[in-house]
Amino acid sequence: MTPNAEYLAVLYDDEARDKLQAKWDAGDKETKAYMIDRKWGGLSRNCLGCKKPVSQADAVVYGSYWGGYKNICHRDCIAEVSRLESFECQLIDSNCNDCKHFNRVAGNVGTCADGKRDGEFRVYPANWQGMDCFIHRRGIK
Ligand SMILES: [Zn+2]
Repeated sequence: MTPNAEYLAVLYDDEARDKLQAKWDAGDKETKAYMIDRKWGGLSRNCLGCKKPVSQADAVVYGSYWGGYKNICHRDCIAEVSRLESFECQLIDSNCNDCKHFNRVAGNVGTCADGKRDGEFRVYPANWQGMDCFIHRRGIK
């Protein structure tokens, strides 16, 4: 059984899920270690995106960008969940690579249209840079 299949099997087995949830709620350290080791983000059967209940047949496992923790969402919601998480990560990173002011010259090299950095420089995606002048290159819709 794959790790995702194992997660779904427990999530949709009422007895197994309720037992784990009760131990989690009671603060059982072994249960917490078990779930953290498997990167289970929780035991909710609600969609990470639209927050509505997800049937087992419609459930897909989404591993978060940070730590790869698993949660479920509807098949039709996973693209939006991923897009929103990426956007959030990029806001936190405040990296020139995703900034509106970055003029890409070639590949990961470009210039800053805001004049905050001199000349051409290289950007590194998916890294925290914390630029105060960061404005995301796309708005969120
Ligand atoms: Zn959904």
